[in-house]
Amino acid sequence: MEDIFKKSLEANLEKLAAGPNKNVEKGINRAVSAALLDVICRLPTRKPATPRAAYFSAEFLPGSFVMGSLANLNLWDICKQILTQKGYSAECLCRPRDPALGNGGLGRLAACLMDSAAATDISLDGYGIRYRYGIFRQGIKDFSQTETPDIWQEDCPLEKERRDQAVVVHFSDEDVLAVPFDVPIVGKNKINRLRLWSAEAITPIDFQAFCDGDFCSAFKQMNNAEAISGFLYPPDNTEAGKILRLKQQYFFSAASLKSILRDFEKIGKPINLLSDYIKIQLNDTHPTVAIPELLRLLCEEYGRDFETAFKICGEIFSYTNHTVMAEALECWEEGLFCKVLPKVYPYIVMLNNHLRQRLVGTEALNQLLIIKNSVIHMANMAVYVSHKINGVAKIHSEIIKESIFKNFYGIYPERFLNITNGIAHRRWLCLANKGLCEFADNRIGTEWRENLPLLEQLEKFNSTADLDELAKIKSDNKKSLVRYLKSDFGLSVDPDYMFSVQIKRIHEYKRQLLNILSVLGLYIDLKNGELKDFYPTAFIFAGKAAPSYYNAKQIIRLINAVSALIERDEAARKYFKVLFIPDYNVKNAMKIIPAADLSEQLSTAGTEASGTGNMKLSLNGAPTIGTLDGANIEIVDYAGQENNYIFGAKKEQLQKLEAYDPMDIYYSSDRISRVLDLLKQGPAGDFTHLFNSLLFGENADRYKVLLDYPSYQNARLEANEDYKNSRVYSQKALKNIAAASHFSADQTVKNYNRKIWNV
Ligand SMILES: *Cc1c(COP(=O)(O)O)cnc(C)c1O
Repeated sequence: MEDIFKKSLEANLEKLAAGPNKNVEKGINRAVSAALLDVICRLPTRKPATPRAAYFSAEFLPGSFVMGSLANLNLWDICKQILTQKGYSAECLCRPRDPALGNGGLGRLAACLMDSAAATDISLDGYGIRYRYGIFRQGIKDFSQTETPDIWQEDCPLEKERRDQAVVVHFSDEDVLAVPFDVPIVGKNKINRLRLWSAEAITPIDFQAFCDGDFCSAFKQMNNAEAISGFLYPPDNTEAGKILRLKQQYFFSAASLKSILRDFEKIGKPINLLSDYIKIQLNDTHPTVAIPELLRLLCEEYGRDFETAFKICGEIFSYTNHTVMAEALECWEEGLFCKVLPKVYPYIVMLNNHLRQRLVGTEALNQLLIIKNSVIHMANMAVYVSHKINGVAKIHSEIIKESIFKNFYGIYPERFLNITNGIAHRRWLCLANKGLCEFADNRIGTEWRENLPLLEQLEKFNSTADLDELAKIKSDNKKSLVRYLKSDFGLSVDPDYMFSVQIKRIHEYKRQLLNILSVLGLYIDLKNGELKDFYPTAFIFAGKAAPSYYNAKQIIRLINAVSALIERDEAARKYFKVLFIPDYNVKNAMKIIPAADLSEQLSTAGTEASGTGNMKLSLNGAPTIGTLDGANIEIVDYAGQENNYIFGAKKEQLQKLEAYDPMDIYYSSDRISRVLDLLKQGPAGDFTHLFNSLLFGENADRYKVLLDYPSYQNARLEANEDYKNSRVYSQKALKNIAAASHFSADQTVKNYNRKIWNV
């Protein structure tokens, strides 16, 4: 494999050097892609009769496909070597825009599972939408987030349009052509496929209207159709936005089912055996409309009765829940659903009746209904039909059983299970952190790359020489990040500072606010002469806020305002640096994570389902400062409390907490009131809105920032103290690296296969 790749790449690069080339970066990406395709075409091809699993997800956040394939095939090192020999920079491969087809963790998990399935020889295809405008490109102007479109499509050389396999999707008001674009997701013995659908109009444009000068109605149809794959999650606070969102969900679910059924028909088996050949994993509630759609197809196109169709669907579908926040569980007004999808709607009614009959007499039947007060609850439907329902970390899987799905759990306990998230370590360690990879290779050999649990053996390499080498690797990674920040963003930071890193979507429950308030607290302490021997620290943030999320955007503004406040103050500058890195995405994550000294995982206990950023940072040797929430709990179980900085109220304590009044804390604690008062037209600017959200109203301080503030501040000072002793700190880092061997997405996807799909 290596030889073929090498020969092909060298030949392609020669052509590149000989030809006229305006854009070298693009040329290099094409050359590497072509060499990859030469390797891929020699891998075993897909056999139609092989049972497969399908991952239906409204989001995928894969990062560069070229780099991902190189990592999976273990060709990254040789590729870099050849590029360097020929005088090109391997950095070029990181340059193209990420296919930004997701918001955050949920889409990233989908991508990690796809990579790991190919690597572990599991037949798993991904199905989603090829959004023309994925998530926006973020900038910062006057401290605040700016949003511009991110044009990524021209930068995706591995993708292939399959117009020959297009299908038609019917809506009440239009028919839309779904054109698949396929990307091969490869492992050493496997080619899986990520199939992303793009929408086009098929109704011929109204030529008469066109001649009459009525361009508006002539093109309306065309534009309508294209909007379906136009934008990642249109805002759903308007009727038009809601309709578009439902159309998107149905569009890719229906197209994917058609494509799967067409493949199934080719093998000539009776439809009753469908579930032996295909299992469908619903990634959150977005694709759950696939359930009534498959029911409809089985009944109407394949002539099965409802009961048989229901049974087949039950064997095929399973559902992953990603959040317990009620507002994130997809619901549709019955009227709207019926208007957009009149042919699918009756199957939801039938399902609801079916549930009502089967569970008649059940206590709390009302809680279980799919249709309640004219609202369709997609999560209830998913749980009622699916044979397995999983949460994404141990604590989260327990929470769903005792809260949102409590009543279903009482009836169908055997359906519920946990599969803790994992990360594609070949991307997050092998590609992103060359130094640490070699550190491991030199001590335990290279087999851990295929089998991450082996990395646990690294734990015993803790001589002073080992620890010093580890510290040197971290320091080099920090310098490399510093160069990148300078060249790409014009930002500067001293690489000798401790790098404390919080990178993730900006959301109140993730509590970036707690972090930045604590920085303000340290600042006040410094000014008052109360801060002793503080090790200079760079507080690094990155993350996007949803464009319509006012508080999250205010938090970004506050972070940047505090950054400027410190910058203006010579005394403060010596101890603190606040850095907001714009446009958090996979590419930037791969630069920041290997350089982190401390991983900030601050979510209020019980709110973060799992998190995967926490795993990536731990694997790269950053101890966690965090709450006992999501996968933090499992990280700390493996790596030891003493090697991490756990603080804050536990989930059980919060549940017992009655009548929380943040105002009490404000009045009783000088340390806290001093900090909060700075938000009111203080030196950083006017943040009265955030001030009010913490202290006033029914939902005052919903996420318990003030409650956890003191213990957070203590944990922070403790980490700062430990950091002064490089060997002590490197020892903690080493424990975390070894313990993160439990969080490979290889293991996660194997669990999905063993416990749910069996393909
Ligand atoms: C890993 C990752 C996430 C998820 O981060 P969490 O800290 O788990 O929320 C989001 N976005 C990108 C680009 C990532 O790589």
